[in-house]
Amino acid sequence: MMIRHALILFAGLLAALTFACVAVAPPPVQRVKAVPQVCLDKGISDGRTFISTQQVQYLFGNPDPSAMYPGYGSGPRGYGPVGPPYDDDLLKAFDSAPPFFQADLCRLTKIFINLNDCSDTSCLNISWGYREQPRQFAALYNGPFARYIAISKGLWFGGGWTQSYHHYETAILRNLLGWNAPYYESAIPDDFNPVLLAALAHELGHVKWYETFVSSPGGPHNFRQFCDGNFFDAWRGGWSVVHVPPKWRELLTPAGRRRPNAVQDTHKDPPQTADIDRAIADNNFDGNSGAGALLDQIYKPDAPWANFFASTAPDEDFVETYKLKVLVNADNRLQSLQLVIPTNPSYRKNVGDKIDNGLAVKLQCFRT
Ligand SMILES: [Zn+2]
Repeated sequence: MMIRHALILFAGLLAALTFACVAVAPPPVQRVKAVPQVCLDKGISDGRTFISTQQVQYLFGNPDPSAMYPGYGSGPRGYGPVGPPYDDDLLKAFDSAPPFFQADLCRLTKIFINLNDCSDTSCLNISWGYREQPRQFAALYNGPFARYIAISKGLWFGGGWTQSYHHYETAILRNLLGWNAPYYESAIPDDFNPVLLAALAHELGHVKWYETFVSSPGGPHNFRQFCDGNFFDAWRGGWSVVHVPPKWRELLTPAGRRRPNAVQDTHKDPPQTADIDRAIADNNFDGNSGAGALLDQIYKPDAPWANFFASTAPDEDFVETYKLKVLVNADNRLQSLQLVIPTNPSYRKNVGDKIDNGLAVKLQCFRT
């Protein structure tokens, strides 16, 4: 009797212990990253509060952020909080972002979802980023100078160009080249999250350019005060020669590149953007001097460009390198982005192979 009783007691104790063990198990850890102080100061402690604090708002109409006084008046006015499907995707993007990028997002005055209708890469024309400058205000205005970025509703509803990260980068590349043959075949990861991070990081990169090189809004650029000027080593003449970009940088499509003063800098080493443009214009795609071979040079692992976009101008170089820095430091970090140039001969290159090669020094310029 005693033994049996003890056994039952023991079994009961075991059951209780097992139950207790389950009961006191900590809930799954949802966040392990510490959100930067600049975010906490704004009440943003995670993706959920990134949305609920209205750091992101809707923007109706299409205000002209490039307008000068008296056409500017004040910054764009949005409203929020944003709802489905934007909230969930932005929440995830924020939570997956590396802390340095979270801090940069929190430092912005406001992030907008531009609700203007658009399709495919025309949506890039209503995506922008800027820091206000004195010329946008009446004389003697001395700040503050707000920082805004807008990404397009068209990332969600503008067609199939954003259905995966490799589709998104293909649409941008073809738009910039004016040549619809090269394409990205695959990416790891390849879902919508890198699309959203890339879109945010690109526009934020243009604001960061001014934060980095122009200490006082409206003042001169100092190209040496970032990475001791080494970031611009791949441009002919380096930091002391590179040009200040237009105040309002239009997308550098072939037509955009032909605008006065849009492109003033050339590469230290060939090929030049103009060489690629000429080959495409002449329908010279194949062979050793064709557009395929020239574009392939840009994508060689030891070439100093994040992609073709980066090789078009020093500011887009800075912006696209920053974007890559964000993507390779995100939780599900970008490991692979495979380009195919289907010419004769054909070429295959992986942007991922550049990270520890031609881009290593430039990526290190940006602090994590
Ligand atoms: Zn840009």
